[in-house]
Amino acid sequence: MEQFQHYIGGAFSEGTARFESRNPATGEVWAMMPEAQAEDVNAAVEAAHAAFRSPDWAGLSATARGKLLYRLADLIAENAEVLARLETRDTGKIIRETSAQVAYVAEYYRYYAGLADKIEGAHLPIDKPDMEVWLRREPVGVVAAIVPWNSQLFLSAVKIGPALAAGCTMVLKASEDGPAPMLEFARIFDRAGFPPGVLNVVTGFGSDCGAVLTSHPKVSHVAFTGGPGTARAVVRNSAENLASTSLELGGKSPFIVFADADLDSAVNAQVSGIFAATGQSCVAGSRLLVEHAIKDAFLERLKDKAEAVVIGPPDDMSTEVGPLCTRAQVDRAADLVARSVAMGARLVTGGQALDRAGTYFPPTIVDCTDTPDAPCLTEEVFGPVLSVQSFETEAEAVELANATEYGLASGVFTRDLTRAHRMVRAIDAGIVWINTYRAVSPIAPFGGHGLSGHGREGGLQAALDYTKVKSVWLRTSDDPIPDPFVMR
Ligand code: NAD
Repeated sequence: MEQFQHYIGGAFSEGTARFESRNPATGEVWAMMPEAQAEDVNAAVEAAHAAFRSPDWAGLSATARGKLLYRLADLIAENAEVLARLETRDTGKIIRETSAQVAYVAEYYRYYAGLADKIEGAHLPIDKPDMEVWLRREPVGVVAAIVPWNSQLFLSAVKIGPALAAGCTMVLKASEDGPAPMLEFARIFDRAGFPPGVLNVVTGFGSDCGAVLTSHPKVSHVAFTGGPGTARAVVRNSAENLASTSLELGGKSPFIVFADADLDSAVNAQVSGIFAATGQSCVAGSRLLVEHAIKDAFLERLKDKAEAVVIGPPDDMSTEVGPLCTRAQVDRAADLVARSVAMGARLVTGGQALDRAGTYFPPTIVDCTDTPDAPCLTEEVFGPVLSVQSFETEAEAVELANATEYGLASGVFTRDLTRAHRMVRAIDAGIVWINTYRAVSPIAPFGGHGLSGHGREGGLQAALDYTKVKSVWLRTSDDPIPDPFVMR
């Protein structure tokens, strides 16, 4: 049985309690994880707070911080295979994706390494002749970062990269479901040469460990990725300390196909949009909106592709759809589909958990054209379940696309350039992909609004969001200060 440890103050520890981690492909317990209790979380925040004030970190130049991040990126690239294998083993995410994704995670660290000494202040053309006024950008302080199980190395990179580039220190809580890749990441981070306490990594359950972390008085910012229900609890907790928050939440993203689209591309992108990562993707294109004239033909091609998907063990390079991370996710997907079908939605393919060891659920398509209230159409499934609606006009497509409280991503497939531009304006989402889907880069901001949260990860803005602005006023006149009872 493998054993994992917390990383607090630059040292590894067993933690005060432990819990079992299951391999989703087999259902078997394969590792023991440390379960952070309040005392562990407090120790991690104290370590981050001490590091934030220590000259070893606070006294480093931004260029030196960047060099440490470059070293971390190199170590991630060197250890990508180990990290990918652990992520696959502990979460069930297929090795085909984890190996490509971890290699790309190194690029996120490189991007923020290069950005560290480009986070600039400003000089203001102030309206007073005897004053110089400039702005300093300073790190916000201790950041609490919380991630869910899917793509933890990626979802943490978009927090750790910009926060450390800005000069913050951090406590990261890995998901209780599949924390192994993050705890291994801590071992790699330890070798990069950062001062102790700059990053601390713990894992444990949300209601105790997560709640203590997000309400801690020494935490200045909470960077959270997870579901909207948990986000509300996190915001309530952070109100204790009036900490700022950035929230990357779920989605119910529309994938819109017009009749003039390149249908080969659109079918493949839809398969990627909903069945890749076994649908456990916040940007999953989980609502297909297809122009009525091509609906039947498009659905037939999609059904053929869905049924030909290779379902298998996640550590096999030929597998395209692996298990879901937990039994609870399987039960949720099955329940949402069953309730939708009971309301009159038409099951096109899939719909029931596979009868084999592990937590497997097949690619599933549900035609909800006549059931606009079907729960698999209105609720985030976070599994390989696609709901389908059709439209006659562009206006109807927009109306259906925006009929959700979420606002994370969207896809538009059309060859009509002017229509594509109109759709960009009309769709209420943080990301619009045109004739492509599920593309990401460290250079492009990522995030949503409404129930999908607020704040952006990726890009320059993400690093600025980990800073606070200080206005500095310098009087250049040697004359006595005039009337003290008048504001200057
Ligand atoms: P979740 O909200 O249940 O858990 C996420 C994290 O929050 C876990 O680490 C959990 O332990 C922690 N947590 C739970 N209760 C807490 C509390 N009271 N205080 C502090 N922390 C607490 O989410 P999940 O079900 O594990 O993940 C799936 C969700 O994440 C989906 O909604 C998905 O769309 C979303 N997600 C969003 C993005 C994005 O970038 N927008 C990316 C991936 C996943």
